[in-house]
Formats: sequence, structure tokens, C-alpha cells
Amino acid sequence: MKRFPILVLLLASALFAQESGTPVNAPSRKDRPLAQLPYTPSLDIPSMDRSVDPCTDFYQYTCGGWMAMNPIPPDQASWSVYGKLAEDNAEYLWGILAEAANAASERSPVQQKIGDYFAACMDETAIEKLGPTPLEASLDRIDALKSKGDLASLLAEEHSRTNGGGVLFRFGSDQDLGDATQVIASLSAGGLGLPDRDYYANSDDKSKDIRTKYLKHVERIFELIGEPNRRAAKDARTVLNIETALAKASLTRVQRRNPYNLFHRMAPADLQRLTPSFDWNRYLADNGLSGVSTLNVSEPAFFKTVETEIRTVPLQQWKTYLRWHAAHARAPYLSARLVAEDFDFYRKTLRGVAEMPPRWKRCVRYVDRDLGEALGQEFVRRTFTAETKQKTIEMTQRVEHAMENEIKTLDWMTDATKAHALEKLHAIANKVGYPEKWRDYTILEIKRDDFFGNVTRAAIFESNRQLHKIGKPVDRQEWEMTPPTVDAYYDPQMNDINFPAGVLQPPLYDPKMDDAPNYGNTGATIGHELTHAFDDEGRQFDAKGNLKDWWTPEDAKAFEERVNCVRDQYEQYTIVDDIKINSKLTSGEDVADLGGTLLAYIAWKDATENENLQPIDGFTPDQRFFIGMAQWACENQRPENLRASAITNPHSPGKYRINGIVSDLPQFRKAFGCADNKPMVRTKACRVW
Ligand SMILES: [Zn+2]
Repeated sequence: MKRFPILVLLLASALFAQESGTPVNAPSRKDRPLAQLPYTPSLDIPSMDRSVDPCTDFYQYTCGGWMAMNPIPPDQASWSVYGKLAEDNAEYLWGILAEAANAASERSPVQQKIGDYFAACMDETAIEKLGPTPLEASLDRIDALKSKGDLASLLAEEHSRTNGGGVLFRFGSDQDLGDATQVIASLSAGGLGLPDRDYYANSDDKSKDIRTKYLKHVERIFELIGEPNRRAAKDARTVLNIETALAKASLTRVQRRNPYNLFHRMAPADLQRLTPSFDWNRYLADNGLSGVSTLNVSEPAFFKTVETEIRTVPLQQWKTYLRWHAAHARAPYLSARLVAEDFDFYRKTLRGVAEMPPRWKRCVRYVDRDLGEALGQEFVRRTFTAETKQKTIEMTQRVEHAMENEIKTLDWMTDATKAHALEKLHAIANKVGYPEKWRDYTILEIKRDDFFGNVTRAAIFESNRQLHKIGKPVDRQEWEMTPPTVDAYYDPQMNDINFPAGVLQPPLYDPKMDDAPNYGNTGATIGHELTHAFDDEGRQFDAKGNLKDWWTPEDAKAFEERVNCVRDQYEQYTIVDDIKINSKLTSGEDVADLGGTLLAYIAWKDATENENLQPIDGFTPDQRFFIGMAQWACENQRPENLRASAITNPHSPGKYRINGIVSDLPQFRKAFGCADNKPMVRTKACRVW
């Protein structure tokens, strides 16, 4: 996992972007392992609401039927076309895993690993019997701390056992921002139990209310691991105090969008001077990294505060803080009461989710996280045809060709910058479906009767895998997402675009459909990722993935002016109640949506220039392009989730990812014959690419 927040995803979060569930009021749909993926077309007429004028509210017009027919399932924070497909994939993976879990059948080594992991995870009786005892080893180590000097060894072990987990800070490896060919050790801010530093820093009533509920949650977790009630309340207060100090020293998400804010290479000796009270030599030695000569300390100011905290907070309070994080990181893998308490705060309170997803669904997600490329092999073999791979590669090339032509004809960019932009575009690697070489899990021991142990060993396996890369050349074949994932990303340091097999299926990519909705949907996704190479963040990296400015000052200014047009547009939109979009956080995504759609449109015109396209089902080809484009984004959101997203999500809500885009595009106006005074026609249209 990359520690820098600069992977640019299509959706909110990696892996199983949405937790999936069964829609309420939909009795036909039952939780069951699927033997086949269900089919929904990529242009779905019943999902539309044709009573609405497309020029007034295009999102309602294309997604109104979908929103009415797809209420949010009780175990979801939101529900969307992507989420529903992720749910279908999960049920299908469940089928694969149920079969692989059968120890009596003849299994390949890969099937045995994923099957036994799944079987152990599903054995709730065994897990229940253990209660909180699997935590004891960690709690004992914390209890045995003799001095603050021992924090280094303890954290090295905790970080490994939770794969970076985030106690106090995060440690791992990353591609060097200054030399994209090399992997470097990286230290970044962490240590929080709430999802973002803003939860601690904001002073509005809603934030205060969440902090009160968080204190209660920490208190209950302490009680569940055996602390008496009064002490638990006091300990929760201690945790919040330490975390608040760390939060206030952490950069905001908007500040972290500037990679230079995260780029501070230093020698271990410099780091030691920054945080003299923490024994870095010991921490590195315990991680097997005594020889490391350089680290990237992404937020030096944060580590200054770590120093102050270590010096001023008494050892007993540190033990309290560490106990909380030890339990917090592992609560989802322990007995039912701990799992429920964890869910209750993080999903119910913070996201508004009514019900916990069933056990099978959580277990599928854990297999995908811990053995993703083993499970992915099985998924790809069954679902991803060579023909789909070929066709989507071809589509990618056409979208790239469209971008090449756009860059050449841009009126605001000078020739010098254009040459660099084209060089970067040509260097982008297209990764489609799955990795060339599968990850080898042979040394990861999976036991059929030890779920907690499996999770811990998988964390150590992944942590070791990451740390082993330090000081070595970057492996450019590697993927940051597993093949079944319904999402896509651009990586500015790898300079590659990645489309897992999971995102290249109906209703997103639909081999049975005409090109128009496929280019509108998948083509625009490809264009979106491609555009990230040139957004406010991505444009700061060169063709090789180095953080290096290749823009002339006047071109950078012209670019910023165009991005500001999009920022001004999006900051007018309301997310929920009185919360507007923080368009400084979302503009990278908004610009990618706008540019990506235009590029897909041009690529589609190019791909079909010799075809005599006719209307289908009463829609012109251009209308089909835009309807297909909009229907990827159909969604329903809980208000709590929208509030959390307003702080943490760099993407705008689905409604604006569609209406914001089409109102800037003259091609849309023409396709639907919209008059100039309609809401979907902006008089001052924005355009970047
Ligand atoms: Zn994106």
C-alpha cells in the first residue's frame, strides 16, 4: 500500500470501495454465493426518469429511476451503480471461496490458501470462544514497557503486526518522489482514531458531538478489554488529548495535495535531531533496516510534535494510548461484542449505516485485502475474457490518441510545455485487467482454525514485503488494486493508469452494447484517469514519475486560471444541509471528470467515423453517449456519509459529477437541444483539456 495519498482513485477509497449489501424492499435479491455474475446493460432505460427535462436536471433524468428503485441497503453508507457491482462481485467471490473452502475437494495451492482463510474467518464459534484473548500478547508487551526509550521497539513490532496500522505515525516504503526509479523508506503522520485531523480541529457543534461520541466509543472498547468503568472513562480522555495534539500537527487534505509539502528526504541522524526522544536507530534495526541511509519524512512538523508529546506525556499515559490502538486495530477480528462496538461507531455513527454487513461479506473483503492476487487469479480466470481485454486496451489507446490531438491544439499552452506534456502522455503505461505476474503467497502461513493469526501473519507478510523494497529499484509491474476491485486509478509516480478486471464489466463496460454508451461510461473513466496525469497534483510529475516542474510559468498560470473556473463552479454546489463542496479538495477530480468525458467523446467520434450510426430505442447516438456516461454515477447517499465525505472525499457527489460536467459541454447542449437559459447550460462554461 502506498503511504502517500497521491494515488488518484476514481472513487472514494481503494479495494472494496463500497461495502456491499442487499437492497431493502428488494425481496428478489437474496444473499447467496453466485455461480454467475448478473447482467445489467450499460445503458439502462428503466433507470431513467423521463418525466424530467434533461436540460433541467440531467442527473435526475438519467438516474431518477435507479435512485427510486435502489434504496440504500441497511448495511451500506451509500448505494450506487459501482457499489451494486461491487456487491455482485462479492457474492460471486463468495461462490469461489465457498468452493475453495471445501477441504475434501482437490485444491490448487492458491485455492487452499484462500479457502482456508475464508473458512477460518467464517468460523464464528471458534472466534467467539477466544473473546479478547488474542489481544493479550500485545497488551502484555505494552504493559511490560519500562521506559519511553522502549517505545521504539514496541512500535516497530506493532507496526509490523498491523501492517503500518498507524499507531503514533506511519512507516513503510514508497517510490522516491525525487527519483522515480528507487524505493525509499517513508515516514508519515498518523496516530489518530478518527478518520481525519479535521475531526479534532473543527469547532462546530457537529464535530464536538462526534468527539463526545468518540470518547464514549474509546471508553467502551477499554471496558470490553477488561478495564473498570471509571478508569476507562479517564483513559479515553487521555487518548483524545494525545490524538488531538497529533491531529493539530498534521497537514490538511488540501495541503497534502501539494506533493512538495510531503517531500523531505533526510538521513536517520537528521530524523534523530528532529525527534531526539525516540530511538530511531533501534526502530530501524528492529525493522531490519539498520543500513538505511535516507528516509522521506513526509511531515517534519508532525514529528516535532511527536517529540514534544513523548517528552511531556507520562509513560503511563502512553501505555493507555497504545492499549487503545492495539485494540482498535484488531477489534474487527475479535469476538462479536468488539466487532459490534467498532461497527457502531465507525459505520453507524460516522456513516449512518444501520446494519452490520453479514459475516460472509466481511470475510470476502478480508480475503481480498490479504490474499487479493490469489483470489484475483480465480476471479480473472472466470470473468475476464481475452476479447474484453483486447477491446478495452484498444479503447484506452483511442482515448490517449484523442488527448494527444487535444494537447497539440490547445490555445493556452506553449510549444515548450506541449512537448513535455506529449512526452509524458506517451510514457503512460496502460495496465488493464490484472498484473502480468501474480504475487507469490507461498511463505504466508494460513491456518484453517486460526482467523486472528491469519490476519496478523498477513499483515506481517505485507509489511515485510513493503519494507523489503527499500533501497531497491521500483517494480513497475506492481498493482495497488486487486483484480476484482470496482475502481480505477492513476499513479503519478509510476505514470500508469490501472483498470482492474472488476471495473471492466457490465453495467460499466458492456460487450453487448453499442460503442456510444461504452465510450460514455468506460471511455470517460479512462479519460478521467488519463487526465489525472495533468491535474493540479499529477502535472507536477514528469514522464518518468519524478516530482519535477516541466511547465513554463505562463503555462502554469494559464492552467491554474482554467482550474479556478472549475473551482468557482463547484464551490457553489451543496453537499448536504449547509455544507458546500470544498472545491480546493475536489478540483483534481472535477477537472478529470470534465476532461475525461470530452476525451472519451472525441475518441468515440474517431472510432465510429466511418459508421452510419442510427438512433436506438429513440435516442440518438450522441444522446446514448451522454446517458451511458451519466449512468455510472447513479447513487443514493446517507446524510451522515455525505458529511464524512465532505471532509475526506476528494470526489464531488455523483449528482455534480454529472450535472457539473454536462453543463460545461457544448456537445451535450447540442445532443439534447438545450436552450441557453436552461440549468444544464452554463453561460461561462469551463474547459481545461
Ligand atoms: Zn479520479
